[in-house]
Amino acid sequence: MSTFQAPKGTYDLTPPRSATFLAVREAISAPLRDSGYGYIETPGFENVELFARGVGESTDIVTKEMYTLTTKGGDQLALRPEGTASVLRAALEANLHKAGNLPVKLWYSGSYYRYERPQAGRYRHFSQVGAEAIGTEDPALDAELIILADQAYRALGLRQFRILLNSLGDKECRPVYREALQTFLRDLDLDEETRRRIEINPLRVLDDKRADVQKQLTDAPKLRDYLCDACKAYHEEVRALITAAGVVFEDDEKLVRGLDYYTRTTFEFVHDGLGSQSAVGGGGRYDGLSEMIGGPELPSVGWALGVDRTVLALEAEGVELDLPAVTSVYAVPLGDEARRVLFGVVTELRRAGIAADFAFGGRGLKGAMKSANRSGARYTLVAGERDLAEGVVQLKDMESGEQSAVPLAGAAAELAKRLG
Ligand code: ATP
Ligand code: MG
Repeated sequence: MSTFQAPKGTYDLTPPRSATFLAVREAISAPLRDSGYGYIETPGFENVELFARGVGESTDIVTKEMYTLTTKGGDQLALRPEGTASVLRAALEANLHKAGNLPVKLWYSGSYYRYERPQAGRYRHFSQVGAEAIGTEDPALDAELIILADQAYRALGLRQFRILLNSLGDKECRPVYREALQTFLRDLDLDEETRRRIEINPLRVLDDKRADVQKQLTDAPKLRDYLCDACKAYHEEVRALITAAGVVFEDDEKLVRGLDYYTRTTFEFVHDGLGSQSAVGGGGRYDGLSEMIGGPELPSVGWALGVDRTVLALEAEGVELDLPAVTSVYAVPLGDEARRVLFGVVTELRRAGIAADFAFGGRGLKGAMKSANRSGARYTLVAGERDLAEGVVQLKDMESGEQSAVPLAGAAAELAKRLG
């Protein structure tokens, strides 16, 4: 192993690709910020019980994927594997739900950790942007979140994604379905671990990715046939609202998601260019989560979109983001006096909001012009002793190749004008 290798299942974001990650986070959060969602940031680790209770003792996340640690003080902590439990915990701690303005709408962006088998699109450290709307039961809120995620993906230029939608029922109808499903599953030919899962969380068996398991599930009872009238009406309203918004979705009655806390609306965004790691994001309603972690009844809904997989989806579709130029002006001084003068001009440009960079290290003209080219700058400023004596700098348009002398004193203003 090389000394410079990142840990297994992780990778670094370095320029230029890192710019795409920033742009994706920006694009996903922009519609949220425009829709009343406030920014929240929580610690990278939490007490382990929060996830055990919140995400669910029987989920893969808690049983297999969580990074847990004992501190020197004896606290049991876990690196956060997902965002929802932490955000709800933080909202409860800060009493945001008591401020009288429900729903509490929050968005977040950060790193998450899961001890998984690394493969394309599946890492041990990955990044998500998420949104949570806490404390209100209203189909329009579920619809809002689905519409905003769709808007974010479309704004990025993604087209080959699909939205899968389902309802998981509530505390009235789901237990009845659960029992019917258990009765069906107990008769199937399944391994020990899956048999245990039938008893703890049978819905998750439906989520099993193995073909031999899926084959046996064809005639499994359908949750749809068990939904109570209230859940049916709620789900129809969500469907009607997103349909009216022109958002295309597919009903997927097998969609259960890997977390225990979901009720009613559940959805997943999948991208067809990603192979087996096709889920780019997912979410749903979690009306019981607050009580599961010891809080009051707070019906809520949210989603998390994976930034890493979204970037892979962009690459799979060949979408080039329209990233703003990193550097607009590049200054190339020839000699010490020019260095001092042009460094001053660069500072002035930056203070005027123009992205500018400088040939550091006193290189010759040729090397410095190479750097200017690589920087992607639209204009280069070059000055040597003779230019300074005449009170001018050479302004080169890197697109047309045209070069002209402009008065040194007016150089920054001239560039501001040309760059609009
Ligand atoms: P999967 O079924 O692929 O394991 P998941 O249901 O565990 O996904 P969620 O917990 O819903 O995923 O997380 C939301 C999003 O976060 C996923 O759709 C995905 O884009 C991203 N994500 C989850 N786990 C990983 C991972 N290990 N590496 C990269 N991205 C991930
Ligand atoms: Mg997973």
